[in-house]
Amino acid sequence: MGKAILRVESMRARYGPVEVLHGIDLKVNEGEIVSLLGSNGAGKTTLLNCICGLHGAKDGKVWLKDQEITRVPAELVVTRGMAHVPERRQIFSTLTVEDNLWLGASHRMPKTSKREIAKEMATVYERFPILAERKWQLGGTLSGGQQQMLAIGRALLSRPQLLLLDEPSLGLAPLIAKEILAIVQEIRSQWGTTVLLVEQNARAALAISDRAYVLSTGTVMLEGTAEMIKSDPRVQSAYLGHS
Ligand code: ATP
Repeated sequence: MGKAILRVESMRARYGPVEVLHGIDLKVNEGEIVSLLGSNGAGKTTLLNCICGLHGAKDGKVWLKDQEITRVPAELVVTRGMAHVPERRQIFSTLTVEDNLWLGASHRMPKTSKREIAKEMATVYERFPILAERKWQLGGTLSGGQQQMLAIGRALLSRPQLLLLDEPSLGLAPLIAKEILAIVQEIRSQWGTTVLLVEQNARAALAISDRAYVLSTGTVMLEGTAEMIKSDPRVQSAYLGHS
């Protein structure tokens, strides 16, 4: 496996006076898919938000490759090569699918030509034909699964080296959820993108991950290869059932 693309050191985070992350260390290597697992309220979303610059009340350090980005605001982090697809997607519901996608690439222009970006957009449409069919529809008229595809497509157009995905299958029908996770795998193989994934469905997440971290009330309870995590008795009883 490659060298570290993301390093998080001793991350603590607060909401008001209440500390909810108590010193998290985490590393993602180039080319990996790494899952963040844990029950509701364990701190997964807060950790992603600390990494991508959305959560300010924190101590600790975040490194993207050899640059420290701890205090870089979210809107600039994307220019450094990290894209974040938040929980519940947050696409622009009153803009067309096509305009949503253009927005993903907006910070790369004019350095990257419109023509070049249109080419990349064609690749996104190829992977998500349903978005091509609906490119002139407003984002808000898409189904949940289609909106998730749009959010992922938009993130890809920022050409990230590292993609943070927060619960991409949340609220989707099981078959669509499965498709979304298959897409995550494809993104890694086709675009070479490294992925840090928060996912409720631990079994599905571990099936596509190289490694995982299990958070419990703001600390790392367990970390290791997906195989190791899958076979840990605590994970089996808390997150995987006994099958
Ligand atoms: P979920 O799967 O439910 O999203 P999570 O593992 O992502 O859970 P977080 O959402 O990061 O967990 O929450 C971590 C802790 O921080 C929880 O105790 C939660 O109640 C608290 N918390 C989250 N958001 C806020 C907020 N805006 N204000 C106050 N406390 C918050």
